[in-house]
Amino acid sequence: MSPSHQLPKNYDIEDVERRWQSTWRDEDNYFDPASKKPRFIIDTPPPYPTGNFHIGNALNWCYIDFIARYKRMRGYNVMFPQGWDCHGLPTEVKVEETYGITKNDVPREKFREMCRDLTLGNIEKMRATMRRLGFSTDWSHEYITMLPDYYKKTQASFLQMLKAGDIYQSEHPVNFCTRCETAIAFAEVNYAPRTTKLNYFDFDGVEIATTRPELLAACVAVAVHPEDERYRGMKGKRLSVPIFGHNVPIIEDVAVDPEFGSGAVMICTFGDKTDVYWWKQHGLDLRKAVDRQGVMTATAAPYTGMSSEDCRKAILADMEKAGILKRQEELEQRVGTCWRCKTPIEILSERQWFVRVHQDEILDSARKISWTPEHMFTRMENWANSMEWDWCISRQRIFATPIPVWFCTACGEMVLPAEEDLPIDPTVDKPKTPCPKCGASDFTGEKDVLDTWMDSSISVLHVTGWDGAGKPPLFPAQIRPQGHDIIRTWAFYTILRAKALAGGHPWDEILVNGMVLGEDGFKMSKSRSNIISPEEIVGQYGADALRQWGAGGAATGSDIMFNWNDVVAASRFQTKLWNIFRFVMGHLEKGADPDAPVTELTDRWLLVRLSETVAEVTAAMEGYQFDRALKAIREFAWNTLADDYIEIAKGRLYADDSSRASACNALRTTMDILCRLLAPIIPHFAEECYHNLAGGSVHKEVWPDFSYADDEARRHGDLLVKTVAELRRYKHDKGMALNAPLGHVMIYAPEPVDDAGDAGRALNADAYWSTGTPRLEEVVSGVDFNMAVIGPTLRKQARGFMQAVEALPPELLKNPPAAVTADGEEIPVPPGSFTPKVAYRVAGEEVDVLTLGDVVVTIGHQP
Ligand SMILES: [Zn+2]
Ligand SMILES: [Zn+2]
Repeated sequence: MSPSHQLPKNYDIEDVERRWQSTWRDEDNYFDPASKKPRFIIDTPPPYPTGNFHIGNALNWCYIDFIARYKRMRGYNVMFPQGWDCHGLPTEVKVEETYGITKNDVPREKFREMCRDLTLGNIEKMRATMRRLGFSTDWSHEYITMLPDYYKKTQASFLQMLKAGDIYQSEHPVNFCTRCETAIAFAEVNYAPRTTKLNYFDFDGVEIATTRPELLAACVAVAVHPEDERYRGMKGKRLSVPIFGHNVPIIEDVAVDPEFGSGAVMICTFGDKTDVYWWKQHGLDLRKAVDRQGVMTATAAPYTGMSSEDCRKAILADMEKAGILKRQEELEQRVGTCWRCKTPIEILSERQWFVRVHQDEILDSARKISWTPEHMFTRMENWANSMEWDWCISRQRIFATPIPVWFCTACGEMVLPAEEDLPIDPTVDKPKTPCPKCGASDFTGEKDVLDTWMDSSISVLHVTGWDGAGKPPLFPAQIRPQGHDIIRTWAFYTILRAKALAGGHPWDEILVNGMVLGEDGFKMSKSRSNIISPEEIVGQYGADALRQWGAGGAATGSDIMFNWNDVVAASRFQTKLWNIFRFVMGHLEKGADPDAPVTELTDRWLLVRLSETVAEVTAAMEGYQFDRALKAIREFAWNTLADDYIEIAKGRLYADDSSRASACNALRTTMDILCRLLAPIIPHFAEECYHNLAGGSVHKEVWPDFSYADDEARRHGDLLVKTVAELRRYKHDKGMALNAPLGHVMIYAPEPVDDAGDAGRALNADAYWSTGTPRLEEVVSGVDFNMAVIGPTLRKQARGFMQAVEALPPELLKNPPAAVTADGEEIPVPPGSFTPKVAYRVAGEEVDVLTLGDVVVTIGHQP
């Protein structure tokens, strides 16, 4: 125990937090594979290494760290790993910008190396922020998806699913970003509103309305509703496509909306998802008018080589010239855009690799997982039910896990590496044996690479110890914490892959956090300049204040608006707690028998309230309701402990009395438990206090298992607290100093209360409790006039009236007569013109009386 005079008056955040961060050892947070304790494995999100650990990450990691620290204290063998999901386009773009090159200017491996170097530097920056925030990460379980140790597992998972028939390649329409020049999955398409023109034109005698005239060259049919009278008997006829001249059939389909435009639509390969549906349904031709760069192909001659935008203008101009463009209307539509670069996506038919999506299996698994908050399961369910296409996993990029496949140049046979030879890059490495089908030994390596979600969707297999075969030894993990923005990607794909590769659901629980909005209520973005960085907050108020903001800012799962006031309030709470702590330490070190029992009412009452707080905080932590946990701790520390208990028991702590030890020990227990309750949320502060109080580290202690039931202490203590608070208010209303002597106070309560003299000391009064009834004598001591009534009603008679009333005997003041006589004149008494002043006496002494429910307090002016 440190002497309190050595405790600085002010809590120096920077000093305390840095000091503990350099004292704590990484090994203390390592998962222990040999441990007999129940395990608690967290499938932590691997962030994209942008170099900037943003506030949304910070919120997510605060939740994870609260859980990790809490579970350790509950006796679990916790694994809080840290992964880095490295692959992807943003890094490629950054490298291209930094070196002024494009990805095709250098060899693939050289380009990858540049991406890797950039990524490693970014990871280092983000690690530093995470350490400054005090997260208890298990750095022995760090993984980096771009390194061979990890991506060989991604490749193994690909081969296994390929062999099991869950992965296939096929020429199929996919969402394609022509700016990023890669296929993307449906989950990566965002929808944004856009105003566009609906163009009505004459299509060989049939009126057609289209928003995509540039796709006219890709038109493969015209569709009408089978019951549309306007087109009766047209089915099977062929129409000549304007400008391009090829013939297309008229088909009927019930999915055509007869109310839209003229009721006839052109089907192009591909304007949207519906085109894909019709194309498949009716076995139509495939005409590719747009290529991977968004440029018009030879099929679109004479517009070949134009961008699709230029082609649209040119075709409309040519239609106008030919006199077939009838009219144009404005149209609001939702257009799919690339999630990375916001370019409108095209649907192109390409040879791609796909993962088969079995919705039922995924939902089956998802139902076995406990979702917090519960309603997030519905998002998963809706997404799974809306999936129409399989998951496109091939990308036409470089910085990604290579697809480990070769094709025999002679016969086209697909050749796979042995799993023990992984990782491989098929564009560099060669098969070890000749083609099993034709014996040739010339191969072409697959150039496509894998979607980065193929890496991250096996994070749970990796952390549970997957060696590439079957169910991992520690599978499933206990919890997956993640944001609601990646339910349809990371959560969905992980559930899919866990089922395919390990045969079960990936985690027992999933905890979904909300997004952080700027102070203006909008998503944080550079253009709104409402971005707040964790470093900015920590620099001013420290990590613990940021962590309190994370815990208390919103209910788990809700979006949370950043608010500096919350951070300031958090920091004030620490100041308040530090003052309480110093006060307590000052008294403890004056010496008190630590084994002395807690005997006095106020002390027992404090322990009852402490026990209730422990139960509340424990229940909240079990349900991941960090806001509820923090609120209960703050209310206890600020109201119960500081405002109520210390104010009442303080006198006894200064007194040289045997009841002093009772108070000291109640306070010692309270501070010890408070430190433990605070440890997961504000680890630095809790450590600083606990170390001074008890020595050792609070993070190696167990979660408090404290219950203290004492109904009488609860009842009597509440009464005492309420009475003292009322009497303090009474003093304040009388303009008395709080420590001014109050005189003789009798508290008449329904039960006998023994407060060990606390009320008297707290009020500086001669206070006694009694179960009797006060013998109150009511006396009329004067009269209060209501001038608002008297003035206007009596005017000149007012003065005489008031004198006459003052002269009335007390019983007439209580029961006013109909009239009074003044200067020989009868004056009727206006209703409500006066009220008698009543005073009370006990045994002839005048007292003030307060009534608090069934408690009556009399205050005598002098003892
Ligand atoms: Zn893009
Ligand atoms: Zn072959």
